[in-house]
Amino acid sequence: MNIDSIQNGVVIDHISAGKGMELVRLLGLDTSDLSVAIIKNVHSEKLGKKDIIKVDADVPFNLDIIGFVDPEATVNVIRNGVLVEKKKLTRPKILKGVIHCKNPRCITQVEQELGHEFRLTDDGYRCVYCEAKAG
Ligand code: ZN
Repeated sequence: MNIDSIQNGVVIDHISAGKGMELVRLLGLDTSDLSVAIIKNVHSEKLGKKDIIKVDADVPFNLDIIGFVDPEATVNVIRNGVLVEKKKLTRPKILKGVIHCKNPRCITQVEQELGHEFRLTDDGYRCVYCEAKAG
């Protein structure tokens, strides 16, 4: 796998194998008009296997979403065929409007206008309204 084929775009690398599709979905890339390539189960010295997402356009991404799915992933920005930026990811403390609470008794199921919001706790993300765990 090389990133040379992209002249201007973004390569999300070192995604834990199996999480690439989830990331594509949460970023909305599956429904966008952008040219997107997802490469699954690439051999990696560090991870054993990894997923890679290549986007053939220099567009901004919600780094919170990428950090939520896999904070160990790397985001490389390519311009004119050159790697110009590696973005650092962290797990966002608050995650707004990305995932939905699945608790059927949660107030967000009734109050549709309430934004879905999760908070990072010691054992993962929990809904700020009902404390249900994400996922
Ligand atoms: Zn909830």
